[in-house]
Amino acid sequence: MSTQPIERMAVLGAGTMGHGIAQVAAMSGFETVLFDIDSAALDRGLTRVQANLDKGVERGKVTPALRDETLARLSGTHVLADAVQDADMVIEAAPERMDIKASIFSQLDALAPAHAILATNTSSLSVSTIAESVSDPTRVVGMHFFNPVHILKLLEVVRAKRTSSDVLAQVQAVGEQMGRVLVNVQDVPGFASSRLGIALGLEAIRMVEQGVASAQDIDNAMVHGYKHPMGPLRLTDLVGLDVRLAIAEYLHRELGSEQFRPPALLQTMVAEGKLGKKSGQGFYRWDEAK
Ligand code: NAD
Repeated sequence: MSTQPIERMAVLGAGTMGHGIAQVAAMSGFETVLFDIDSAALDRGLTRVQANLDKGVERGKVTPALRDETLARLSGTHVLADAVQDADMVIEAAPERMDIKASIFSQLDALAPAHAILATNTSSLSVSTIAESVSDPTRVVGMHFFNPVHILKLLEVVRAKRTSSDVLAQVQAVGEQMGRVLVNVQDVPGFASSRLGIALGLEAIRMVEQGVASAQDIDNAMVHGYKHPMGPLRLTDLVGLDVRLAIAEYLHRELGSEQFRPPALLQTMVAEGKLGKKSGQGFYRWDEAK
């Protein structure tokens, strides 16, 4: 593939991650098209971008001019060909299923320009396997953003088996233009962030299970002793215990390491419907709007 300056982006999937990635891309000066197969989801995504920007203006974090320029650079479509035909970079943020990603990437192979970088925001799937759906896998890379994208600056850049150095250099430049802090990782399960974050969260759960200390005290130890902005058990409540259990099972299976074996307490709480904030009960009670 030839190297061309990245000016136009397509973001595929307008959900939790896609709308945020599209917002930050458009705010950073890229002509951005947001695509979703579901028109209602596309409308919701575009509405959320508008709402985020309006809130930013209210709080004095975004100028009215930047909001207006961002919205002028952002458009939406539910036709994949229209979204990607002029794109220099495509960032896929569709559901976390290999069959969906493989189908999207094989369509991109036919629909996107040959020079376009094809990135996936997968948080756990193998980027190298996704790249097998494309005739030139050297242009496939992982760009793992964090939720909420307009607040959290981390971007894990995942190098798949065949990703070229040119593509990595371009992703680095795009990430910097988007105001990200970049971390380079190999294509291994859990990358860097999930693997470390889950290890800490699971150990904290085992400590509650063993009666070492209360959830609040374990969290306080990390917040006040290690300057973490939030303790591992409160974070588990926010992410969802079911989500963390699924990641732990995946890492345990893929990495074969006992430290990722899900603790019995986590399994029991999920079975009882104690999923954290979304269910009102996890390691903390979340009955009021906290
Ligand atoms: P989501 O369910 O909120 O949004 C997915 C969107 O994709 C939906 O709007 C859906 O209509 C759309 N979609 C379904 N099939 C599609 C297709 N074939 N083409 C285009 N769009 C399609 O999901 P999400 O939380 O935004 O996650 C998206 C990706 O980002 C996943 O790979 C996930 O693992 C990853 N991720 C999620 C988070 C997070 O905190 N939610 C963080 C980092 C990475």
